[in-house]
Amino acid sequence: MKFVSYNQLSFKNTPYYNRLPSNEKEVFDILTSIFHFKVNTYVLDHLIHWDTIPNDPIYKLVFPRKEMLSPIDYNHLKTLYHNGLKSKDIIPFVQHIKQKMHPEVKHHSTSIPKENGQVIKGLYSNFKTIVSLFPDPMVKTCHSYCSYCFRWVAFNNFEAQHNASYKDPLTPVAFLKNNPQITDVLFTGADPLVLKAEVLKKYIDPILAIDSVKVIRISSKSLAWWPYRFTTDKDADALIAFFDYIIASGKHLNFCAHFTHPRELDHPEVKKAIQRIQNTGTVIRCQGPLVKDINDDPIIWSQLWTKQIQLSMIPYYMFIEANHNSENCFRIPLAEALHIFQEAQQQTTGLARTVRGPVFMNDLNRILLDGITEINGNTYFVLKSLQAPPETSSEGAIKLIPYNKDLKDLGDLFVLFNAPTPVLI
Ligand code: SF4
Repeated sequence: MKFVSYNQLSFKNTPYYNRLPSNEKEVFDILTSIFHFKVNTYVLDHLIHWDTIPNDPIYKLVFPRKEMLSPIDYNHLKTLYHNGLKSKDIIPFVQHIKQKMHPEVKHHSTSIPKENGQVIKGLYSNFKTIVSLFPDPMVKTCHSYCSYCFRWVAFNNFEAQHNASYKDPLTPVAFLKNNPQITDVLFTGADPLVLKAEVLKKYIDPILAIDSVKVIRISSKSLAWWPYRFTTDKDADALIAFFDYIIASGKHLNFCAHFTHPRELDHPEVKKAIQRIQNTGTVIRCQGPLVKDINDDPIIWSQLWTKQIQLSMIPYYMFIEANHNSENCFRIPLAEALHIFQEAQQQTTGLARTVRGPVFMNDLNRILLDGITEINGNTYFVLKSLQAPPETSSEGAIKLIPYNKDLKDLGDLFVLFNAPTPVLI
């Protein structure tokens, strides 16, 4: 299959645009003036079930939804469109909303490595043994965009990409050599596996020569969005050969696969792709967020983990959806999230006990919502810090929070687990 992707303009020229009910067309037209949209032929032809839109989960996973904006802003934009204003006349209001929707991602002041007092751009080191790397070509794009992604702000934004990434492949080398406690290196993005194998090699090769780095992690949704990347793409063989090469260097290669719905694992091409990756010795660990109206059902998670295990992958994390801004509408109450996780585990083979969840992941902490307990007649959520910045002593700490069945947000997790308040940038 040839990779063809569509943005908000070109999608309108596909037959699928005319399959949208008129109110969905309106939502699409309005919201794609704010949020980025990208979809490819595989997602359109094989993943979305067009007969069930707008309720189809994969449709909701790709297409923006009205609730991503406040009702006031949405209705204001709608009025502007209905008044027949041209796009250029709406730009100032669109810019105003975009600024409001800008996700606020916090970093601990010590999470951004420095050398000789200078910040090393494109590196984030929040936890003791791992550093996340953002080479410039990896932060550009994905095979398709997820409606719930807070990284939309960097798509097509060259300034944001420039500020958060590095261009010279040797940039992280000295830092990693000087910090031998860092055993794991995570390449993330956008989606690194959009890149050609030779570009990946240029950025990963210098890391392979560092003895203290034992694990290369690559985070990607390409298995769900474009499995042909590993089977029939022009350089699919080169990519698989590169995975072989990483393993031959003595490193463990961990493919952090992002799956949101069991349907993403049904197509024969995904199975072929998984097999090819596994034949190299790469281990695929699966993670994904729990999102309202897309996968907020224990049956869906049980099916997802069962299929992952059948395909010899490891269920790893169920995340609580980020809460930076527009993703807020994808969050469900924490009590419900915990119920879904526990119920799904009970319905699934014990091998799915490898999965941790529901987990809040932000750039500062990884916190597990571990259960509900009662003390002296009062009910509490039990939280456990799985990972925290090394300067703090909160890793492993347990906190009890008063139970509230409607609670969706615990506020600032860093403050909750750490005192005094850290310097944030
Ligand atoms: S694949 Fe990942 S980075 Fe890309 S849009 Fe989806 S969540 Fe965001």
